[in-house]
Amino acid sequence: MIYLDKSLEEIQEALKSGKTTSDELVKLSLDRANKYQEKYNSFVTITEKEVLEQLKNLDNVSDNPLKGIPYAIKDNFSTKNILSTASSNILKDYVPFFDATVVKKLKENGALMIGKTVLDELAMGGTGTTANTGIVRNPWNPKRLIGGSSAGSCACVALGIVPFSIGSDTGDSIRKPAAYGGVVGYKPTYGRISRFGLFPFASSMDHVGCFTRCVKDVGYVIDALKGKDELDMTSLPNEDIKYSENINGNIKSKKLFYIKDIIDRDNYKDTMDDELDQILKNFDNVIENCKKQGFTVEGIDFNKDLLKAIYPTYITISCAEATSNNSNLTGIIFGPREKGKSVDEVMFNSRTKGFSELIKRRFVLGSYILQKENQERLFLNAGRVRHLIVDKMTELFKKYDGMILPATLSIAPEFKSENIDKLSDRYLFDNHMAIGNFGGFPSITIPCGFVNNMPIGLNITSGIKKDLELLNIAYLIESTMDYKGQIARGDIDG
Ligand code: GLN
Repeated sequence: MIYLDKSLEEIQEALKSGKTTSDELVKLSLDRANKYQEKYNSFVTITEKEVLEQLKNLDNVSDNPLKGIPYAIKDNFSTKNILSTASSNILKDYVPFFDATVVKKLKENGALMIGKTVLDELAMGGTGTTANTGIVRNPWNPKRLIGGSSAGSCACVALGIVPFSIGSDTGDSIRKPAAYGGVVGYKPTYGRISRFGLFPFASSMDHVGCFTRCVKDVGYVIDALKGKDELDMTSLPNEDIKYSENINGNIKSKKLFYIKDIIDRDNYKDTMDDELDQILKNFDNVIENCKKQGFTVEGIDFNKDLLKAIYPTYITISCAEATSNNSNLTGIIFGPREKGKSVDEVMFNSRTKGFSELIKRRFVLGSYILQKENQERLFLNAGRVRHLIVDKMTELFKKYDGMILPATLSIAPEFKSENIDKLSDRYLFDNHMAIGNFGGFPSITIPCGFVNNMPIGLNITSGIKKDLELLNIAYLIESTMDYKGQIARGDIDG
């Protein structure tokens, strides 16, 4: 029996009853990490030496659900004495002297970090193709991308290298790859998990979250990570609940809604294809299944202009915040330093060499948006639009317990595929998960089927601080489908 492939609950059971050991789990996890690395490229660093050292001292850690269980974490989290690059040349030799709060908490809980995973450079991107160490491939078909930015963290759960992993989500960076990779991807309410030690991208929208293979497992991870952190002033107070013990499908109110425009075929006349047709049919089935579980599901009208504004609003705010946050990446304090005759020249040369064109483009945009004469028209207006969207959602969450939507409007694209028209509604509406970041709403993607042999996902979002309600909705919906705990066969050639 390979317990590594099981849910966290089953692994804990097997550890307790002696059917497996942490040594065995870690060995298998490292074996798989190494075996799949060349083909899928999930890792920046496999921390073999460190994890074997940690294993030796594991007996001193008090008993805990995550004790002895291997995991992986995105390379934009600080890890003490371990390379932390954010998949960018600007940090390619950066070794922090402290652990991010989540890393510290996982260590205290006895979870065993087996590696740091590849992301889109500095977490800016959605494809998993822009890391300085190369592209990440989709375990369900290596000719396709896995999505990003938490690409490696998703791939290593999909490949069965680890039963859970940690990522970050500013626009959809956990929930989108989760859909493409056929696993669960969750981002909690803003502040539920401390961001101390996560390299900031857009602070007002950055969230820490996780990938698992079933909804219940999210509970164990969030139990270990949640809580007030003196080092993150946005972290929420401690709560007196154990998620893992309360994810059981027990919910009083079961009212769901979806946004009609996003699933309206009339909006996709120019871009409709068999793939989208099947994704929309799948969503109809999901609604039927929800109704069988006792949910009411209603379609609502959301202002179409506001929907189309999601992407521009996201880009405006995130590029501005990112430009400001990343102004400390100069080659002076962190990362490789280029030569120059003055401090300015050193910074100019280091940044020119350290960032890819993609990142530079976002910083140029961000600088333009933040220029005094543009701030009102661009930055502040984007903030106002964000407010309109969040207010509308907050109103809806007074009446409904959750919003359901197809997580993405395509399966994982092929690397070379012609991009769909970037101005089409299909492309614009594909960014709807950023709503969760605008409002800090808890949001989860769960696998809900296959189209053309590739997994697709269902996204569910609830009101602020309603994490437990959301997880219970997701748990119930998950139970109506047959995609729980799936692992990709990493030997497929595509
Ligand atoms: N795809 C989005 C972007 O490119 C989201 C990134 C994220 O959530 N980190 O910015």
